[in-house]
Amino acid sequence: MEESQKKKIVVLGSTGSIGLQTLDVVRQHSDKLQVVGLSVYGDVDTLLAQAHEFGVKNVAVGRYMMKNDARVTGFDGRAECGSKAIAELAALPEADIIVNAVSGAAGMRSSYNALKAGKVLALANKESLVVAGELLMPMARASAASCGVSGAIVPIDSEHGAIYQCLIGEDMSKVSNLWLTASGGPFRGWKADDLIRVTPEQALGHPTWNMGKKITIDSATLMNKGLELIEASWLYDMPFTKIQVVIQPQSAVHSMVEYCDGSVKAHMGPTDMRIPIQYALSYPDRWSAPVEPMDFCKLGSIEFEEPDWDTFECLRAALYAGRRGGTLPCVMNAANEVAVTAFLNKSCGFMQIGECVSSIMETHMQMGVQEVESIEQLEGLDNWARFNANTWLLSHQVKK
Ligand code: MG
Repeated sequence: MEESQKKKIVVLGSTGSIGLQTLDVVRQHSDKLQVVGLSVYGDVDTLLAQAHEFGVKNVAVGRYMMKNDARVTGFDGRAECGSKAIAELAALPEADIIVNAVSGAAGMRSSYNALKAGKVLALANKESLVVAGELLMPMARASAASCGVSGAIVPIDSEHGAIYQCLIGEDMSKVSNLWLTASGGPFRGWKADDLIRVTPEQALGHPTWNMGKKITIDSATLMNKGLELIEASWLYDMPFTKIQVVIQPQSAVHSMVEYCDGSVKAHMGPTDMRIPIQYALSYPDRWSAPVEPMDFCKLGSIEFEEPDWDTFECLRAALYAGRRGGTLPCVMNAANEVAVTAFLNKSCGFMQIGECVSSIMETHMQMGVQEVESIEQLEGLDNWARFNANTWLLSHQVKK
C-alpha cells in the first residue's frame, strides 16, 4: 500500500495495556497503518522508544512538570507536556483515527477534541461516554467521519465491539435487547462478608482478561459492567430497559443482540483484546490476526447466570446513575476513580468503593443533578466529586 493510503493513527495512552496492544496490531499491519502521534502520562522512556520504532514525530506527555526534562526538550520532532497537549494531539491534522486508550475521565477532553476535529474515534476510554455521552454522541452522529452504527465512534471495548458487529446490516428498530456479557470477575459467587477482607492482589487476578489495573478493579466490583451499560446506551441509542447484563464466566460469548423475531446474534472469539482493537482500526474491512483460533470441540460448556445485584453495589449505583442521567454519571465515575486508587493504595476497603460512590452520588442528588451543558461544567463537577470522595475516604480511613 502507498504511504499516503495508510490509515494514520494517534495512540493516546500508548504505554497502557490497550496502547501496547494497539502498537502490536500496527506491527502486524504496518502496510496498512501508520502511527503519527503518541501520548503517555509519565513514562517518557517507553514513549521515546515507541516513537523511535514507529518513526513518530508528534508526542505528548501528560505530566506538565516534565516539560523541561532533557529527554523531552531533546526530542527530534514536536513534544509537548500537560493535559492540554494530549487533548491537542487528539485533533492532529494529519490523523485519520484517534485511539483513545487513556484511563479514566482524563480522556474525556481528547474524545471531545477528536470528534470536533472530524476524526474517527476508536474508543477504549469508556469513561468519556459515561461522563459526556450527551455531548459526544450528537457530534459523532453528525460527523463527516461517521462510518457506522455509532457515527464516528468505533468502540474498542470488547462487549461493545461485539454488539457493533452483531448490529451490522440490521434495522435498529427491530432490536429487542442488547445482552452485555460479564465474566463476573474474580469474586463471582462471593458475598459481602467475604468481600470485606479482599486485598488489591486478589482483586487484580482477573479470571479471563488481561487488562490495566483500574479496569481490573472495576471488573471485580462489577462497576466496569455498570459503566458499560451506560456506554452501550449511548453508542446504540438504547433505553436501559433494553440492555441486559448476564454473567458468562468463560468470556467466550462477548455479547449478544436479540431481535424482535426471537433471533439472537452472539459474537464469540478468543479473549484477546487485539481482536477488538484491530477491528476498530480495520473497519469496515477485516484483516488476518495471529491469534490462536477457538477450538469449539475443546471449549466445553458455556454457562450463563444472573448477576448478583444485591452484593455488587457498584453495578446498582451505575445503573441508577445511567437511568437518572444528567450530571450524575459524571459524579459517580469520579468518585469511583478516587475510591479505586485508594483501594489499590490500601487506604480503602473493597466494599467501601461502592459505599463511597453511593455517598457522593447522594450528596450530588441532594444538591441537585444538572442537565449536561458543557465539557467545562463536567470537568468542574468531576473535580468536586473527587474532592468529596477524598474527604469521605479520610473520614472512613481503614488501617493499613
Ligand atoms: Mg469490556
